[in-house]
Amino acid sequence: MKIFYDLNGALYANITNKCPCACRFCLRNNGDSVGDNDSLWLEHEPSVDEIKAAFDDVDTSKYSEVVFCGYGEPMERAFDLIEVAKYIKKKSSLKIRINTNGLVSLIHPTFDLYSMRGVIDSLSISLNASDPDKYYYITNSKFGLPSYNSMLNFAIISSSFIPSVVFTIVGVVDEEEVNACRERAENLGIPLKIRSYISDNVSYN
Ligand code: SF4
Repeated sequence: MKIFYDLNGALYANITNKCPCACRFCLRNNGDSVGDNDSLWLEHEPSVDEIKAAFDDVDTSKYSEVVFCGYGEPMERAFDLIEVAKYIKKKSSLKIRINTNGLVSLIHPTFDLYSMRGVIDSLSISLNASDPDKYYYITNSKFGLPSYNSMLNFAIISSSFIPSVVFTIVGVVDEEEVNACRERAENLGIPLKIRSYISDNVSYN
């Protein structure tokens, strides 16, 4: 079971296979392997100690950043992720990014967003769509239509203290929708990144 893996020279951490969504474009539907990891399906959800031990085996000199991503939503493990991120900060100079669907406040209502302050350097949040209905159509979030506004609130609050926050959409939507997403992102003062279905440095969220 590989928790940390290399994808095009970047270091990724796969700490969970849980996710409240079933996105139409999710790579989980299309294969098991990414980068140098043969299977992103974990044998079990690794404990915090297992993740720390796996990190100790990583040659961090090759990387500048670690990205929590993988075959699942990393913030399903939000409390553990923060603990591991603090450990990584203590043991290395790596920047820490989370690729997330932004639904942590619905997944873990008691999670304090401000616990990311000073620990997480950047967030890549899946905007996915320009309104709640389109978002739900794409993500099939188990939290239903309220998911969209929860994701936006997460982005707004996080961007007030996380150094770098970007929205992403997968570039398979039509131009009108891309422009609507662009306008939505601009209104919130958050950059929008349009990524290809399988991008060089962003895999899922
Ligand atoms: S793309 Fe991300 S949020 Fe969507 S189902 Fe896959 S892991 Fe979950």
